[in-house]
This record gives sequence, structure tokens and C-alpha cells, in this order.
Amino acid sequence: MKTKIAVAKGDGIGPEIMDAVLRIFEANEVPLEYEFVEMGKSYFDAGHSTGMTEAAKATIENLGILFKGPMETPKGKGVKSINVTARKVWNTYANQRDFRSLNGVQTVFSKAGVSINLTIIRENIEDTYGGIEHMMTNDVAVGRRIITRPGSAQVIRYAFEMARRKGYKKLACGHKANIMKLTDGLFLETFYEIAKEYPDLQASDIIVDDLCMKLVSHPEMFQSIVLTNLQGDIVSDLCAGLVGGLGFAPSANIGDNISIFEAVHGTAPDIAGRNIANPTALLLSGISMLRYLGLTANAATIENALLYTLEKGVHTGDFGDRSVPSKNTSEFADCIIANLGKHPVQGGAFSQPNFECKTNADFHPSENKITVSQPDIEEEILGVDVFVESTLQPAQLAEVAQSKLNDKFKLIMISNRGTQVWPTGSVYTELVNQFRIRYEKADGIELNQKDVFNIAADVSDALKVCSVEFLMKFGDKIGYSLAQGQ
Ligand code: NAD
Repeated sequence: MKTKIAVAKGDGIGPEIMDAVLRIFEANEVPLEYEFVEMGKSYFDAGHSTGMTEAAKATIENLGILFKGPMETPKGKGVKSINVTARKVWNTYANQRDFRSLNGVQTVFSKAGVSINLTIIRENIEDTYGGIEHMMTNDVAVGRRIITRPGSAQVIRYAFEMARRKGYKKLACGHKANIMKLTDGLFLETFYEIAKEYPDLQASDIIVDDLCMKLVSHPEMFQSIVLTNLQGDIVSDLCAGLVGGLGFAPSANIGDNISIFEAVHGTAPDIAGRNIANPTALLLSGISMLRYLGLTANAATIENALLYTLEKGVHTGDFGDRSVPSKNTSEFADCIIANLGKHPVQGGAFSQPNFECKTNADFHPSENKITVSQPDIEEEILGVDVFVESTLQPAQLAEVAQSKLNDKFKLIMISNRGTQVWPTGSVYTELVNQFRIRYEKADGIELNQKDVFNIAADVSDALKVCSVEFLMKFGDKIGYSLAQGQ
């Protein structure tokens, strides 16, 4: 029985490398059937705002698996990246990237005899990738960074499950919770909460800058690392560099219902159409997909053929021994096909499955899933941050802010770019034309939403209000960052 999957060849080098990979699959009689879908730059150009046709969307949602080549997002047309949109819309919340030293791919580490085998799990939906950005004033752009408890929990649980399945002993959480105490703090808190369910795995955390330093000096220290979206994006490209570059970096975007397998690299417009691109990253992504679909024997045979080919020094133009002539994309695929059934001397295909094997083609939800992690938690409004546009000096602005007070609030502080400028501050602090005025509830007062909007409306009589943020308390936890000295 053949499993049907959706395939999008992509733009630039996409069709060349996808054809090479599908030829290798065919030679190994992989029991897959392909439904080619219309996605990519030409569909943006043809007026499809999401970069794909309705038929493509329906096919992918129906089949549950998309194997895709890289795709180009047209620049400056107000369209969002098709790659990011696809991951978000279909809730492929865990981005798994497996990095491993490949014999035949020389790196500074292979030359030093250091073997790398590590997996990065990157949260794939949240963070700054929501693209929620606003110009608050002509000079001040603000982006929202969204980290949620359910979103963190699902990717962190996935990471622990993956680590266990792969036989790893440890999982680290990379973060910057020392600075972003609420967003990264929530991710880290969730990590240790879920770690309690996996006592067999050693859970630890590391600040992301320290992580980067250690990865480039001692990559063998790590087995698996889970990170938020942007930090994970950067750290996983760093790891691609450790094992030989983007040409060797596979990626699986895993969701509960739909999963997307693709290479990490882009469309490589500089070499597109010349049949010289390296198909290895897409092939490794395809091998991951075969394991995900339970086709582990095919995955192992193809992976061993690839490893054998690399070990023999066969290479495309972007890597390998320059004194040995390089192969073009199709010749490289031909060599792998010729080596099907052979085993590398060193390494060899992973014996553990990369993924919990599943197909979701039978799962079709009738409505959106909504997750609230603590529905009964008590919440209280403690005040409001009113963001205003102004070029007044802090003391003058404080006078205006005081003049708008009513008996429900007290004025706590004023900051500019997060630095407090009133009631204390330094005249050396350089200011831009946006301030945050923090009002908190007066003693004994219970605030409601309307009180918050009323004081913001009163402030708007004197100043341009750019934005209003509630200051909340959830259970016994303060839900906002405190000002200096508060
Ligand atoms: P890129 O990854 O396409 O290229 C960076 C460099 O690496 C280039 O010099 C390229 O020739 C080389 N390279 C990449 N893949 C290679 C391969 N398989 N074999 C040999 N050399 C390879 O990055 P870019 O130039 O920043 O982006 C080009 C386009 O790709 C952009 O439109 C971008 O939005 C898109 N992109 C798409 C995805 C995706 O579909 N998931 C990911 C990244 C970038």
C-alpha cells in the first residue's frame, strides 16, 4: 500500500533538488504516491495572496504531509513568507533539525576528530514570527513577542519525547530569561514543569549567548536543545555551520495533524537552473519524512547509500575535496542510486527512529482547537501603562500625567525605551519621542476595564496615546515587568 503525500517542488533550485530526491526514492521503490501542489513565487505573482492555490491548501490539509522545496517570498509586496505562514497556519509547532558529522564533509571539527550529533528543537509558531509590528511614532517601531504557556508546553513536551526516543540522556533549554523575564521566563518555567514528567532525562538550561559560545567551542557537550523561535532559528543555522553548512541541514516541521519536511536552505537564486545544487539537505529531510511515515527500512537504505557516497569523497561543488572534480545535482543523485544497498565504513544510518511514526490523514477537525492552560486562575487589574508620543522633558511630562489622575490611580513612573526617567533618572539618558506612563491603582481600589480606558482617554486630551497595556496579576504572579526600584 502506498502512502499519498503532497509535494511542492518550490522555486529556484527547488525543482532540481526535488527531482533528484524523488528519483532516489523511486530507485529504492519507496511506497509513496505524490500529489504535486501549486505553491510558491509564481502563485504569489498570479495573485494568490498566500502563495498557494485553494486546491493546494485542501490537498495538504487532506493528506497531512507536505514535502517541499524552498520557496521565495516576493519582497516588498506586503505578503508574508509562505514558509512561515504554512508552519503557523497548520500548527507545525516543533521544528526539528538533526545535525550530525558526515564522513566526507570536512569541517574544523571533523579535522579535530570531534564528532557532532545533536538535535535542535525550535518552537515554530510563536515569538516575533507573528509579525505583529507597529510604528508607534514616526521614529519608534515596536514588535510583539508572543510566548504562550500552551505553545511552549507542546514544543517542550515534543522535545522531551524526541530526546527519549533517540536515546539521548539530556535536553537543554536555551533562553534569555535573565533579560526577558516574562516571555523567556514563561518558556523556561514551562520547561522545568514538563521536565518533572521525564526523570530519566537530565534537564538543564543555558543562556543563549553562552550556548552559542559553547556550541562553537565544545559542540560535543550537547545532545538536544529546545529554544524559542527566533533564538532557535539563529542557533540552528549556527549548528548547520558546525556540520558543513546549509547544504547538510534537514528540517522537519511537526504538528499533531500536518507536518512539513523541507531543507533549511533557501532557493539559492545565484545557482538556480544550473543543475549544480547540493540535494543532500532535502534528501536528509526526505529521509526524516520516511521515518515519520514508518518507512524505516527505506530510510535506512537511502541514508546508508548517501553516507557511503559522501564517504567515498563524491561531492557537489559547494563542499568536499577541491582536487576531486565535483558532480552536478543529477550525477550526485545517480551516485547515491548506484550505492543503494551499500553501507558506510563509519557511522551508518540511525538505528533509532527519528520520530514517533504517524500519519494523520484520517484526522480532520471540524473546528479550531483552543487551549487555556489554567482556566480558573484569578486575575486582577493592577494598573495601566499608557504609551504616549511626546517631546516634553520628563518632569514636564510627569506634570501632564499627574494632571490627568483621578482618585482610582496613582502615578508610579515614566520610562523611555524601557529606561526610567521619572521620578528618578539621568539627564544623560537619550530620549525618543515615545514615553510610557505607568499608573497603578490607588490603595483600596478595585479597577475594571473601563477605569483603564477612561484614564487613557483623559491622557489623550493632552497627548497622543500610541498604545495602552493593562497591568495584570494572575494568581499570585505579577504579569508585567517592574520599573527600576519598584
Ligand atoms: P539561500 O539558502 O537560498 O542561499 C544562501 C547561499 O547558500 C547561496 O550562496 C546559495 O547558493 C547557497 N546554497 C543554498 N542552498 C544550497 C544548496 N542546496 N546547494 C548549494 N548551495 C546552496 O539563502 P538566501 O539567498 O538568503 O535566500 C534566497 C531565497 O530563499 C529568499 O527568497 C528566501 O526568502 C528564500 N528562503 C526560503 C526558505 C524556505 O523555503 N524554507 C528558507 C530560507 C530562505
